[in-house]
Amino acid sequence: MSRPLLGPAEIVVDLAAIRGNARLLRETAGVPLVAVVKADGYGHGAVESARAAKQGGADWIGTATVEEALALRAAGIDGPLLCWIAGPDSDFAAAADAGIDVSAHGLGHLETMAAAFAGRAEPARVQLKLDTGMSRAGSPRAEWPALFGRAAEGERAGLWRITGIWTHPACADDPAHPANDRQEQAFRDALALADEHGLRPELRHFANSATALLRPSARFDAVRCGIALYGLDPAPGEATDVGLVPAMTVHAPLLMVKDLAPGDGVSYGHHWVADHATTVGLVPVGYGDGIPRHASRPGAADSAATVSIDGKRRPIRGSVCMDQFVVDLGGDRPEVGSDVLVLGPSSAGGPTAQDWAEACGTINYEIVTRIGGRMSRTYLNAEPADGEDGA
Ligand SMILES: *Cc1c(COP(=O)(O)O)cnc(C)c1O
Repeated sequence: MSRPLLGPAEIVVDLAAIRGNARLLRETAGVPLVAVVKADGYGHGAVESARAAKQGGADWIGTATVEEALALRAAGIDGPLLCWIAGPDSDFAAAADAGIDVSAHGLGHLETMAAAFAGRAEPARVQLKLDTGMSRAGSPRAEWPALFGRAAEGERAGLWRITGIWTHPACADDPAHPANDRQEQAFRDALALADEHGLRPELRHFANSATALLRPSARFDAVRCGIALYGLDPAPGEATDVGLVPAMTVHAPLLMVKDLAPGDGVSYGHHWVADHATTVGLVPVGYGDGIPRHASRPGAADSAATVSIDGKRRPIRGSVCMDQFVVDLGGDRPEVGSDVLVLGPSSAGGPTAQDWAEACGTINYEIVTRIGGRMSRTYLNAEPADGEDGA
């Protein structure tokens, strides 16, 4: 069915899917859910995603940066809120005023916070982020005794309350990888050591989406789920199917249809040349809107990404441009203005984020998170926020 579209390309986000996914994740994990809405909710909108996740039963909201967390508060997202990226100049006092949990990723970082929190009437809420083997953010193992000692001292001095201790898995999408066992054991060692230092955090957490679904032993007191909240599979090929529903659909109007003769080259560099007569269509979105240029690589036409028009998959031909790309219509002539389903759930026959990821040699996370640019975003199935129901 074609859906005439005169406006620009559009991202449609189904908030009922996010609510339902939050409910499923909460039930499956059986522990509090930290709904991760960093990077503008993986391209779905941070505020709307946070609100829907909470309506679906999420207990906490998680962001990467302090600034993202402050923006959510300013937009009226209340309740437990955790962030884990902060530079030395981040506004820790504003975060504490807003009741946001900040994460210290090392002893030096904790000292920076100590300076920022000195003289406050109320203790700030601080979580300790540990590196148990990812070698990314987080306090390294050799530092843990000093970190826990300083954390306990600050707690006694009323500077902060250590509300959480946590870490992040490196190989969660590969459950058989030995790093998973090693990291979980290192985290257990850390918790025992923290306990010896007198720390009694409310929340000990380890899991992202893949761990939450695939490794029950590592759910601890909460799971931090991002990609699964948006209905995408955190570990393609592993047994993660609990009925998650993808929330994002991307539509664009078909702008033009034209004939190609054998030998006609398409787009910059003529990386695709028609070897027979065909028809092609123009889709007005490109890498400026987050459509990866890798979707159609020179010499890899057979693995090019596809879009769906009138229920038929149509491969991208030639390079994706900044504002547009060309698809092969194989001699058909869909009406100008026909709906091009650029991305959508498999239930709608669309190329999924996973299909795009495979065509581009990346992960579904990157596909949805980059989508945006000049596209508008429309929300379906919003439920009024508390106090907004107009009754
Ligand atoms: C992004 C992120 C998550 C969420 O990961 P998913 O794989 O999307 O569930 C959880 N924790 C931290 C620290 C993150 O940076």
